[in-house]
Amino acid sequence: MKIKFLGGVKSTTGANYLVETKEAKFLVDCGLIQKENVCELENFEPFDYNPSEIDFVLITHSHLDHIGRLPKLFYEGFNGKIYSVLPSRDLAKEILLDANKVIKEKCRDWNLNIDEIYNEENVEKIMAHWLGVNYHQKLNLNDVEIEFFDAGHILGSAFIKISSDNTKVVFTGDLGNIDPLLNRCEELPETDYLILESTYGDRIHLDLERRKDILEDIIEETLKEKRILIIPAFSLERSQEILFEVIDLIEDKKIPKINIFLDSPLAIRILKIYSKYADFLNPEAKDFFLRYDYENLDYLHIVDDEDAYELFESPPPKIIISSSGALQGGKIVNILKRFINKEETTILFVGYQPEGSLGRKILDGLKEVEIDGQKFYVKAKVEKLLSYSAHKDQKGLIDWIYPQRQKIKKVFLVQGEENAKIVLRSKIEDYLGIKTIIPQEKEEVVL
Ligand SMILES: [Zn+2]
Repeated sequence: MKIKFLGGVKSTTGANYLVETKEAKFLVDCGLIQKENVCELENFEPFDYNPSEIDFVLITHSHLDHIGRLPKLFYEGFNGKIYSVLPSRDLAKEILLDANKVIKEKCRDWNLNIDEIYNEENVEKIMAHWLGVNYHQKLNLNDVEIEFFDAGHILGSAFIKISSDNTKVVFTGDLGNIDPLLNRCEELPETDYLILESTYGDRIHLDLERRKDILEDIIEETLKEKRILIIPAFSLERSQEILFEVIDLIEDKKIPKINIFLDSPLAIRILKIYSKYADFLNPEAKDFFLRYDYENLDYLHIVDDEDAYELFESPPPKIIISSSGALQGGKIVNILKRFINKEETTILFVGYQPEGSLGRKILDGLKEVEIDGQKFYVKAKVEKLLSYSAHKDQKGLIDWIYPQRQKIKKVFLVQGEENAKIVLRSKIEDYLGIKTIIPQEKEEVVL
């Protein structure tokens, strides 16, 4: 088996791996490269393979940095099938339709064919080629056996075990931390080689055990001091996760009812997919979706345009959940413009804020920021609760590999910043005694 590392090598995003066996040539993930921007120029460079020669594509999960170059793959001649776990197909449709708008807006000047690549028709074409399977439903394609395992990262996320010609390889995709909605990441099965994500390879999540208590304290303060609590959250997983935590606190009578506004059209559409695929959630979350009709909770306001007035004008205390999580656009921008210069506002960060982003500036304590070219004073109180991260930290990764340490021949580190990979490599080599490689971009290995 040959593996070529084509994306997700130098940074956390853009996952794209070419695998060749005696009888098959296929991809694992085809993601968008995202750094400071939603989309980078490199996304429009030619692929290192001829898309029409690819037999099929396996998708670990539906984050844009794992699926965002699929439209380009089809545009340039791919005509095979895509396989993933069932909910990933529905999620991918929403994510790609949303990406059409965002990518066109940000990258119009870079690519003359952008309208032909990122359009609705192409998304429909992708969906027509996309087949959803269940976890552990084995697929046999050419000379390859494929099995999807629950990665506990977002709804439908998987790590994938590929076996061919007596060689076994596991591609981790992204591996989940502890998520209130999902089942825990499954144990690593026996494998010869491991292609391992390393986003948090050099970090440990603090507050993991106490995060819900801290969230409760922040909401209690919001109630007591009649504050406006703004939670910027990514539309996929984090918004649903935080919403679930807050509703659970209310229904458990840990906190009184408080008006919650969910102001993210994409997060709302995705919430419906969570409800549809409740069987893929953990038992408590499944029970929650069966027990509560979230559309009819009197304190939860799903904001469409007519409700925008209520969102802005209703008196505090109130909670507003909106996207994007790193404040790089989306409906959160208008909300910030309205509330950032008010002392009764609290902004609670629950996700990673990339260097250079507006979110990072506010989190770093800047007192004056620019939003849409306009200057705003930050009078809001700023809080963070970053242990709601959807990735395993260093300890989580090491513990996950440990039971298989004697069977694994080599680990290849991908999808992480350089420093995270270097730190994680020495940890795996010293503590687990497994030879660990940091592949170079476009490097090919023969296993
Ligand atoms: Zn992900």
